[in-house]
Amino acid sequence: MSATATRRVYLLAHPAGHSLSPVMHNAAFEVLGIDAHYEAWDVLPQDLAAAMNRLRAAEVLGANVTIPHKQAVMPYVDELSEAAQHIGAVNTIVNHQGLLLGHNTDAAGYTRALEQAGVQVSGQNVLVLGAGGAARAIVFALLQAGASLALYNRTTQKAHDLAEAFAVLGDITVIDTPDDIPDDAPDNLYDDLYKVAKQASLIVNTTSVGMAHGGIDPDVSPLPAEALPEAGFVSDIVYRPAQTRLLREAAQQGLGTQNGLPMLVYQGAESFAMWTLEPPDTNVMFNAANGVLEAE
Ligand code: NAP
Repeated sequence: MSATATRRVYLLAHPAGHSLSPVMHNAAFEVLGIDAHYEAWDVLPQDLAAAMNRLRAAEVLGANVTIPHKQAVMPYVDELSEAAQHIGAVNTIVNHQGLLLGHNTDAAGYTRALEQAGVQVSGQNVLVLGAGGAARAIVFALLQAGASLALYNRTTQKAHDLAEAFAVLGDITVIDTPDDIPDDAPDNLYDDLYKVAKQASLIVNTTSVGMAHGGIDPDVSPLPAEALPEAGFVSDIVYRPAQTRLLREAAQQGLGTQNGLPMLVYQGAESFAMWTLEPPDTNVMFNAANGVLEAE
């Protein structure tokens, strides 16, 4: 549907430039014949309150929220879903007759992505790399699915904070970084990350390491190839580039792999269904997103 459509969905972001969400959602509106248009809206932090008020207008179905507003919007919504409360961030807002409902569909999107890949999480040993915003949604999804979790992050304190915040949902083993290990520790102590990685049946990269952005060399991996397990699955939520070094090395060793595009599409599909009460055609969303990525 065109920009003259009667109903609106916004992406609140700053900057708003490179998002795949407008093409994905507009393609999905079009095939379902829904008279709505999705557009990215560059909102400065100081303009967030006014932007949130505009979402209450009758023609607005809702919004997505991304960097840097995912936490900042929380005081402006009238209700928060359980997932948004646990994760501590809102990525989806539904305008229900002027009331703003804050949701987080990243966790459900990630669960669907793993299902699509045929990965069974319950009872598996999972190593999560990273402890930022995306890690919180993924840890929530994995604990709910019954995984046994280990967490490694460059800044160890953030991993401990995350583990503490989610302790009500399940235990997380935090792996310390070399800097935290005392000089007089036995030589093999830092083998912890290697040992855990070797025994993991699923490794998830939630860090931005390997992402192509701002001219930074993306050919780096958050985990040395020699630490990869003999069997299992590696999931990287980065999707630019489509195959990160981590995924390439995992595939070379015969492991199953998935990049971040399915998570992106399925979190979008979950949001779409909340705004329109209709499930979108996710193949259409994949094709629209891939069309942009392949042209880059
Ligand atoms: P964030 O909150 O800024 O967290 C960044 C994470 O990456 C932190 O754990 C950080 O470690 C780590 N990190 C950054 N640079 C590093 C480096 N040089 N070495 C080691 N660790 C490093 O970001 P986020 O929102 O969680 O997003 C993380 C990534 O996920 C991004 O690439 C984003 O595009 C992607 N993402 C994908 C989807 C999807 O749908 N596929 C959804 C959300 C996010 P420290 O704590 O030590 O700084």
